[in-house]
Amino acid sequence: LYVEHPLGSGQSVPLTREQAHYLFGVMRLSVGGRIALFNGSDGEWIAEVAEAGKRGGALSCVVQSKPLQLPPDLWLLFAPIKKARTDFIVEKAAEMGAARIMPVQTEFTNSERIRQDRLQAHAVEAAEQCGGTFVPEVTDLQRLDRVLAAWPEYRQLMFCDEAEVGAALKLAENEKGRPWAILIGPEGGFSEPERKRLKALPYAHVVSLGPRVLRADTAAVAAMTMWQQALGD
Ligand code: SAM
Repeated sequence: LYVEHPLGSGQSVPLTREQAHYLFGVMRLSVGGRIALFNGSDGEWIAEVAEAGKRGGALSCVVQSKPLQLPPDLWLLFAPIKKARTDFIVEKAAEMGAARIMPVQTEFTNSERIRQDRLQAHAVEAAEQCGGTFVPEVTDLQRLDRVLAAWPEYRQLMFCDEAEVGAALKLAENEKGRPWAILIGPEGGFSEPERKRLKALPYAHVVSLGPRVLRADTAAVAAMTMWQQALGD
């Protein structure tokens, strides 16, 4: 269970109404019962139910069961697509260990508005499901050119472009240890001027994900898998 509260030996963790309903109503836990908690920074802790009630309760941390496992320093930048498929991309990025998930507005992005708080909740749920101890940050929708204008030094960018059939990820040794990012375009792909600008970036690596044009959500998973094969730990 994800909690927004410090975790540590003997630490008492108050429960929200929803968490109490989930633990005592759905999971049928009672006083003395045990549950694994994480908060994204203190690793995973086994906690015991100290108080159980309809409207709340409290857990007491007993022992740390997993140290914090920080994911590799990978950002996923993607142009939002249809709502359900954007949810899918966020969930898969959280499961596959992205450290930050960044919806970006490109020229051909359809005017999908995103709900950053809802997407962040999806990332938390995905982290809970895959037994993670870290929750990636989902940023609000930003224009791609603004993100690139403030691009942090050393971070390499894997620019996935279906027009570059056969382009493979070629890395110098010193690029392996650097922070990375993956960029996936919208359903309509990138515009020619965007493609040109992206290819000219000193930190960009243009990559093909194979001879077929993939849907953006498929491409996001394929790209993260390729990245992990090539670089991830
Ligand atoms: N431009 C394509 C078109 O109009 O048919 C569609 C773009 S595709 C649906 C969405 C994004 O997924 C692309 O911008 C690219 O980032 C990525 N993508 C899809 N297939 C790819 C491939 N074979 N190689 C590299 N990137 C791919």
